[in-house]
Order: sequence, then C-alpha cells, then structure tokens
Amino acid sequence: MKSSEQLFKRAQQLIPGGVNSPVRAFRSVGGAPFFTQSANGAHLTTADGAELIDFVCTWGPAIHGHNDPDIRAAIATALENGTSFGTPNPYEVSMAELLVEIVPSVEKVRMCNSGTEATMSAIRLARGYTGRNKIIKFAGCYHGHVDSLLVKAGSGALTLGNPDSAGIPASFAAETIVLDYNDPEALQACFAQQGDEIAAIIVEPYPANCGLILPDGGYLELLRELCTSNGSVLIFDEVMTGFRLALGGVQERIGITPDLTALGKIIGGGLPVGAFGGKAEIMDHLAPLGPVYQAGTLSGNPLAMAAGIAALQKLKDTNPYPLFETMGAQIREALLAAAKEKGLPLQVPQVGSMFGLFFSEAPVRNYQDATSSQTQHFNTLFKYALDHGVYLPPSAYETCFICTAHNGADIEQAAEVLAAGIRSI
Ligand code: PLP
Repeated sequence: MKSSEQLFKRAQQLIPGGVNSPVRAFRSVGGAPFFTQSANGAHLTTADGAELIDFVCTWGPAIHGHNDPDIRAAIATALENGTSFGTPNPYEVSMAELLVEIVPSVEKVRMCNSGTEATMSAIRLARGYTGRNKIIKFAGCYHGHVDSLLVKAGSGALTLGNPDSAGIPASFAAETIVLDYNDPEALQACFAQQGDEIAAIIVEPYPANCGLILPDGGYLELLRELCTSNGSVLIFDEVMTGFRLALGGVQERIGITPDLTALGKIIGGGLPVGAFGGKAEIMDHLAPLGPVYQAGTLSGNPLAMAAGIAALQKLKDTNPYPLFETMGAQIREALLAAAKEKGLPLQVPQVGSMFGLFFSEAPVRNYQDATSSQTQHFNTLFKYALDHGVYLPPSAYETCFICTAHNGADIEQAAEVLAAGIRSI
C-alpha cells in the first residue's frame, strides 16, 4: 500500500474525515488525498515520493514558495529567544509599523491567529462601533468559519454542498443579509429599506472562494458610497488578496479605501496569523481602550511575527507583481488556446498570481454563474494534472496561486500539462 493511503487510513480512525480542514479530503474531486512529506520552492514531495508543481501554495501563504530561506532564517533567529512570552514583544511593533505603511486603510491594527479570527473580530468591532446588528455578505464569499458568516458561504462549505452549516442558530443567521455579488440594484434596495440597521458590509473585493470572480466596473465604488452615506462600516476581507494582488492588496490596486480590513495567510509567512486593522477612530473601540472585547493568548506570537515580517519585507524588496502578471497571463492563454482547440467553453479569470477555471460559456459574475459551470470537467482536469505532476486546488470552487518560486520551466511545464489535460476531457 502507498504511504499516503496508509496515513489516510490511520487518520480516518482518529480525525473526522481524516483531515483537519474539510477541502483537503478531496471529496469533490474524488479519490483519497496525498500526504505531503516536504515542500521546497514551488514543489511538493508527497509521502509516496511523487514531485508536484504546486498551484495551491498552502492556500495562499507561500507567495515566496515553500521553505523560503529568508523566512526560515527569521524564524530561527526569533527561536533563539523563546517561542511565546504572554507579554508584548518588539516584533509586534515592527509588524504593526509595516502594516500601517503598506495597507492603505490601516491606521491601527490588532494581530490574531487566523483569517477566521480576523473577520469575526472585525464584524464584532463594526457592530460595537455602530451599535447596529445587521451585516451584509455576498453569496459565495467565504470569510472563515464564523457563525454569522457561514451563510451561503464559498470555499470548502460550497465544495461539500453545504454553504449553510448545521449548528448555527437561525437567530444568528437572521442578522446576516446575503446578496448577490455584482448586483447594484439589490444592494441599493437593501440600503433603501434598512440602511440604518446595517452595521457593515463584509466583502472579498475580488471573491476567490467560489472560483475567482471579478467586480463589474463601479460596483466596489458603490459599496464604498453606500457605507459612507448610511454610516455603515465597509470591511474588505483581504485574507487572500492582501499582499498578493498588489503589496497593499486590492484596496491599493483599485484605490478604494475600506474602513476595516481583515488580513491573514501571507502575513504569517506560513505560520498561523491573522490581523484586522483600519481607521484609528474605529479600532480604538477595542479593549482595553473601548468596550469591544477581543483577545488571544498567542496573538502577536514572536515566531509568527518574525516569519510574517520577513515575508512582507521580501515582497517590498523584490516587487514580484509585474512578473506575476506575466506568468498568470501565460497560463491563462495556454488554457484558453487548448479549450478553443478542443471546442470546450472555458473562462479563465486571472489577476496577477491568482487564476481560476470555469467551464462555462459566459464570464462568471456571481455565485449562481459559478455553480452553473461544468464542475465535472474541472474534476477530470484535476486528476489528469495530478497524475502528470501538477497540483491544482482539489475543488472547482477554489483559486490557483502562483508564487515567486515558480520559474519559467515550471510555468511552461504546467501550462503544457494543463493544456493536454483540457484536450483529454
Ligand atoms: N477570508 C478569506 C477570504 C479566506 O479565503 C479565508 C480562508 O481561506 C478566511 C477568511 C479564513 O482564514 P483561515 O482559514 O485562516 O481561518
């Protein structure tokens, strides 16, 4: 028996579904997951000895590739002084300084331990600040496994066919208004009816958890206008897009400044970290200054801060964003050419280092369009790619990531494999 099979059998006896995060179980693409033995640069080595070009990049954080020497060195240096203090430490201050400098909306910031904590805390803060309860989210956007945000959610929840989780009281979900993304009329009508009850809009500005969806012109501007005119807080969830689509995230790329921003993934350099930040006037409502409670035993952990600072500093120093555009476009064009040759309808939304694949006739503008695409074609492509040394996310509703460690040969090889995979459908 292969090692991954053996490990998965053992894991299934002990861990629900054999995994610590559901989408890792390969339920939507079928088959059993592989276990990773080690990861370096843009490559994973499985427990079975296979080498894969990785387009999941630990679901986003590995923007410099795996096992980056500068991040490893920063962790090793921090480790000399201990792993956790339970008091403030100097790294937290350096991290806060970097974030205020890099992310346009952030005047003050609080560190936490995951993207879920970041969005959960940002929502609580918005409610505490406005004294209102209702929040607007968009169908197919995923903001972590927060009770009030697991309503019509994307990512693993959508992959497994349960975008509304069991275990969430209807009374919690009732405070969440779900609208279609890219539908300005629905948004305007909602604010016209109940604008004075809406604490916040939370949005992935470029939704990337039901595949990758891009905003129609003027849509994000409308969100900004409606929040400003109704006294609601605009929260950009940039857990995935932050530091990836530009150093300062989507907000820098498109020049729209939210009131609060949730961050995660890249900010921890591969260790568990999240953060939320924004206007000082709002952030000062957090304890110990204000009445909104939020805390964490390991928040601001020195190893995680050191790793994250190294990751961000390296992005500042190397400016990989123009190269990401080129590499992303190369893959996109190869995929579209193969689909055209085969006569298959394919959409490849791509921005810099993020791209998605929808087997559908028309561009995908919302959750409804995404869930109408031919996911079985994606599953066939996923299996072909895996068998030929390329690892795509194991779900049609996830986004692929490019990292700085993907070299020209990796991109060329992957483009060839994916094109052949499309021709094989
Ligand atoms: N927000 C977005 C946009 C995400 O993509 C994710 C995770 O994929 C989260 C929040 C939750 O982050 P975490 O998995 O670190 O809790």
